Parts: sequence; C-alpha cells; structure tokens
Amino acid sequence: MPIDATQPYEPNNIFAKILRGEIPNKTVYEDEFALAFHDINPQAPHHILVIPKGAYVSWDDFSARAPDAEIAGFIRAVGHVAREAGLVAPGYRLLANVGQHGGQEVPHLHVHLFAGQPLGPMLAR
Ligand code: AMP
Repeated sequence: MPIDATQPYEPNNIFAKILRGEIPNKTVYEDEFALAFHDINPQAPHHILVIPKGAYVSWDDFSARAPDAEIAGFIRAVGHVAREAGLVAPGYRLLANVGQHGGQEVPHLHVHLFAGQPLGPMLAR
C-alpha cells in the first residue's frame, strides 16, 4: 500500500530498522549522511537504494526540512555510489517515489538506482 507522504515520520519503518542495524541489508556504501544497499526485490540487473541517515519521510520532507549539509552529503553519496558501481558510462535511472500517486511504499526517503540494461520508457505505456 502506498504511503501518505504528509504523515509524520514513523520510526519503526523498515529502513529505520536497517539504519539501526535491527535487520540485515546488503550494504554497498555508507558514510556520515547516507546508506546504500541492494534492493531486496531487484527490478533491474543493478537496483540499489540510497537513503539519508536522517529521519525524513520523503523527498518532499527532506527538501523542506533537511539542513544544507545533509542535502549536499546525501546527493554527493548518490553520485558516488553510481560512479563506484560503474553506472555512469552505460547510464542509469534515478527515481524517488513520493506518496500515493508515486507508489511510495516505505516511509523513509529512498532513491532507486536502476542500471545494467536499457531501461525502456520512463513510465509504463
Ligand atoms: P518504493 O515503492 O519506492 O517505496 O520502494 C520500496 C523499495 O524497497 C522496493 O523496491 C522494495 O523491494 C524495497 N525493500 C523493501 N524492504 C526491503 C529490505 N528489507 N531491504 C531492501 N530493500 C527493501
């Protein structure tokens, strides 16, 4: 069920539990601002999620409330992960689902990195 992106942060969501080390993940990269790990149900040969360490429901919440250093740190981490995975030359897709119409299921901001094959049209046709 997609979430309501205007809801308050829910501290027991699955990505909060991953950040606290309460459930395992396949970590790709971690720094002060971000954690990147493999999606449990990959939709492409490479499917990596990058999440900020701070408690933000969505891209909307993050862009409105996060301090500049957290925004810069997170965005740089996303770029770093894509470069380190060798995704820049072949190309990749970066996606953040927000709320009901975006189909966001987990109420902690995450961006998807998809790569490894031509990814087709941006939206289903
Ligand atoms: P979204 O629909 O944008 O909220 O995407 C949520 C993503 O989280 C989906 O692609 C799921 O496969 C992924 N996911 C859910 N639980 C886990 C988990 N424990 N570890 C890794 N990925 C997960």
